[in-house]
Parts: sequence; structure tokens; C-alpha cells
Amino acid sequence: MKYIGAHVSASGGVENAPLNAHNIGATAFALFTKNQRQWLSAPLSQKSIELFRERCEQYNYSPSRILPHDSYLINLGHPLSDALEKSRTSFLDEMKRCEQLGLDRLNFHPGSHLNQISVDECLTRIAESINISLEKTKGVTAVIENTAGQGTNLGFKFEQIARIIDIVEDKNRVGVCIDTCHSFAAGYDLSNAEGFKRSFDHFDKVIGFKYLKGMHLNDAKKGLNSRVDRHDSIGVGLLGEETFKILMKDPRFDGIPLILETPDETLWSEEIARLKSWERE
Ligand SMILES: [Zn+2]
Ligand SMILES: [Zn+2]
Repeated sequence: MKYIGAHVSASGGVENAPLNAHNIGATAFALFTKNQRQWLSAPLSQKSIELFRERCEQYNYSPSRILPHDSYLINLGHPLSDALEKSRTSFLDEMKRCEQLGLDRLNFHPGSHLNQISVDECLTRIAESINISLEKTKGVTAVIENTAGQGTNLGFKFEQIARIIDIVEDKNRVGVCIDTCHSFAAGYDLSNAEGFKRSFDHFDKVIGFKYLKGMHLNDAKKGLNSRVDRHDSIGVGLLGEETFKILMKDPRFDGIPLILETPDETLWSEEIARLKSWERE
């Protein structure tokens, strides 16, 4: 069975996220557990934590249907040691928040080399950052998202993600989130059945489906291999409905959160309903 939702607002408190998800007919959701554009946020209050857990139970959002996303400021592969330290501290705090909320995974963008260190050095730093945070937490899997490869962001090639996983010590607590828009922008042509099959066969060979802990369902505004990250609404962009029809029928994407990050949130409930109808077709 597919779990389908969107990255909903948690403004006013994390406990509002499951309500917002329920209101758009979602069977999964993503959220930020703190302000994604600030380094510091107040700790979660006991009341917020309790309400969040209560509402997730009430609306049937088990941990495998929830994909929290970390702050955009964090760069776990930062070339400078002070900045790297700051990112690692912040990431650990994000992992601990997930722990407090009873969540079992945290989605993040791997990191950027900023043209100051080599690709491999950056990938090694990212893996070490993951090792540090896994050592200090329990039960939360670090979920690496593939990127569009914009600027100096790494993780746009499946081989780069595989390299990170290779260096992570606890393989049971590292996973991957594949974003359809990022994949297309990075040169994986998911726009047709043949390209979809080729790309995910490659994914399975290089990384392995056992590591897949979530998906971001976004259509793409920019071309194949453009290395530009611009999401579009489902069916409107260069991927088109075909990509999502294929995906919704493929059992390899069952049982994990499938999350919309499409730009027009007024369309989310309709997009979710359409995706559900393609699963049943
Ligand atoms: Zn994404
Ligand atoms: Zn994106």
C-alpha cells in the first residue's frame, strides 16, 4: 500500500502537522520540527510532543508514514571545521527532536563542497557526520536525499550516495530518499517507462531498494540533466503524469512516505487524490 502526502506546515507547533495532513486527505506527511531557516529554535515542549503523538495515533500516521526534513542551513560536508561543527551540532539536535517525537527517520540533503575540498573528501565528511549523530541517538535513521546537483551540492549521482553509505558504520540506520524532480535534473530520465526502469534498475544495483525510506514526488520545471532544482505540480512539468502513474503501480514504492513538495499547496488534496486513483487503476 502506498502512503501519500505532502510537506505540510508545522507553524504554531509540530502538533499542527498531523492535522494539516489529515485535512488534505494525506496518508503520509513531511514536516520541519524546527524553523528551517534558523540555527536556533526553542526545544519542543512536553505539551507539543504529547499532542503530536496523540494526533498521529488518532489519524493513523505511524512513523513509517512520516518523513521529517532537516534545516536548509545544515551542510554535513562543510569544508571549514567551525562551520562543519555547527552543522553537526544542529543535525544532532534535529535527530534528537525526531527521537522525542517517536519518529524513526530524518531526511536531509547530504552537503556541499563549496569548491574548497574534493568530492571524495566532502562525501567522507558527510559520512563521518552521520556516524557521529547515529552514535549519539537511538532508533532514528539518517535518510540521505538525492539532489539536483545544483551549485556544489553532492548526492546527485547514486554512486555518491553509495559512497557515503559505504563509510557509515551502522548500515541499519542509514537510508535514502529519492526526489523525482532532483533525479530528472541530475540526468535520470524518469519521464518515460524505459527511462524509469533503467534509472531504478541502476538505483537498485548501485544503492539497493532496501535503503529506500521515502520519496519526494515532484514534477520538474527544468530539463533533463539541467542540474537546476525547480519543482512543478504533478503532471504540469517536464516529467508529466506518466512518471507518477508508473510509480504508483510499482510495489517497490509501497510502505514508505511518498511526499509532495509541489509549489502550489492549494492543489495538494487534489494531487493526493489523483495519485491514489492511479494506484487503484
Ligand atoms: Zn525533495
Ligand atoms: Zn528540490
